[in-house]
Amino acid sequence: MERTGSFLAALIVFCGSVQLHAVAGEGYAKPAADLIIHNANVWTVDKMLPSAQAVAVIGERIVGVGTNPDIDLWRGPNTKVVDAGGKLLLPGFNDAHVHFVSGGMQLDNVQLKDAASLQEFARLIGERAKNAVKGEWILGGNWDETKWSPPTLPTKDAIDNVTANVPVFVMRYDGHMGLANSLALRLAGITASTPDPPGGTIVRDAQGNPTGALKDAAMDSMGKVIPPLTQEQRLKVIKRALAHAAQLGVTSVQHMNPDYADIAVYSELRQRGELTARIYAAPLITQVDDQVKIGIRHAFGDSYLRVGALKAYADGSLGSGTAYFFEPFLNQGNNRGLLSDEMHPIALMRDRMMDADAAGLQLCTHAIGDEAISTILDLYSELVKAHGESDRRLRIEHAQHMAAKDFERFARLHVIASVQPYHAIDDGRFAESRIGRDRASRTYAFRTFLDHGVRLAFGTDWEVAPLDPMQTLYAAITRATLDGKNPDGWFPEQKLTVAEAVEAYTMGSAYAEFQEHEKGSITPGKLADMVLLTEDIFSIAPERIKEVKVLRTIVGGKTVWNSTGR
Ligand SMILES: [Zn+2]
Repeated sequence: MERTGSFLAALIVFCGSVQLHAVAGEGYAKPAADLIIHNANVWTVDKMLPSAQAVAVIGERIVGVGTNPDIDLWRGPNTKVVDAGGKLLLPGFNDAHVHFVSGGMQLDNVQLKDAASLQEFARLIGERAKNAVKGEWILGGNWDETKWSPPTLPTKDAIDNVTANVPVFVMRYDGHMGLANSLALRLAGITASTPDPPGGTIVRDAQGNPTGALKDAAMDSMGKVIPPLTQEQRLKVIKRALAHAAQLGVTSVQHMNPDYADIAVYSELRQRGELTARIYAAPLITQVDDQVKIGIRHAFGDSYLRVGALKAYADGSLGSGTAYFFEPFLNQGNNRGLLSDEMHPIALMRDRMMDADAAGLQLCTHAIGDEAISTILDLYSELVKAHGESDRRLRIEHAQHMAAKDFERFARLHVIASVQPYHAIDDGRFAESRIGRDRASRTYAFRTFLDHGVRLAFGTDWEVAPLDPMQTLYAAITRATLDGKNPDGWFPEQKLTVAEAVEAYTMGSAYAEFQEHEKGSITPGKLADMVLLTEDIFSIAPERIKEVKVLRTIVGGKTVWNSTGR
């Protein structure tokens, strides 16, 4: 349970107007609210007062939550009053796992996710190549070959003839594989004689020539030749991403593996007062020495911009066949997936984690396959053994395919499961064919996590999945796979209620960044981050949740999105 920062506000809410007048009668001048939202259906995510009608805000903080008459007492001559018309008001959504800049770039990139065939994939890239300016790369894309028949990986031969002079490196939607054309391979110096790097695969044809598909660490050589964004481009991309988030009711984002240049832009926007979402940035653990040297600890910063976390990678993804399992994938020979290059050797990861933990930094580790998750839990328990119990809020990002034996240990170590429900309805299309029924039954096992007392934090992994919280809530509540084959839910016993899903997306994500006293619920004393929806997601049919839109988004008491433009 969260505690409030304002005793006076709590007194007013819980004791009502009689007490207030008594206080006022003793000459206690109550300041007027800057903003009142009334006639709302408020779901607070605060168990002390789960629902209410109205909210009062002074500056960037909530000062009162209660009935319309309670809150009307905060009204002064200059108070802005918003009539919510009975609509649902929730705490703003906090996306615990985004790639905010690649997400922002994706808004302008070639869109390949819906390409229904290899031919359409090639046609879309060709059209984009026609409009490319000199030196520009075609990037992003988010292609998904499982939507094609046959679902075979694309090769450079499919796109070379339409992209002769334009370098192409388009990503699979999970971010664990990319396809380069011949020009891009040449620029990166990848040939038949290039060996596979540790933690990566250069996909080859029968003659041993690269097909253009590069998996995980094999993509690094491409990263070295793709020109970085200029600061001006980066600022534009981030502003575009912020506008997208505001429109979707996302008021906080936890940016996984940002470049330092991204943080510099956030800092600039913070200073200008132009950040419309609160940022927690977790650079790669390969850069652990920098944060250790500065001496900052977890969640260091102000309400808009914090650092002090590190993102690590244990393995790849299910779709790319690189998630690391105890047992092989089905029909893929001995393939059990790949540990990431950061895990070669595991002692390297251990050293970095020990350094981070000793410095009080927070760890957020991507782990998808059951053995990858298990190995990270081993490392996490070594940290506790070495440095003692403390409130370190270790996280596993994705926590996708759990070994049955690990739920209890996950809970015992107080590890947070930072999960992306949309992946469940996406990967749910093909997971059983890759790993079989038994392992699939412990995939995105949200209910089992809660039953074991594990805290959930919700996110999207944008640009891998849509940033839209309604898609994520829909996924967690229905588990209806995107192919329409599981209308009653894929492993329906793992479905969450609306209240549980909303809590994971607000308080759960706030807890995962040490901010549960500052945000995550509509509670007096907390930051006034709220979202007003077109429909009551608690009462409509669950399958309609994905169509719900945002009427108004408020961050720190300021409206950053208003669908009516008022
Ligand atoms: Zn991610």
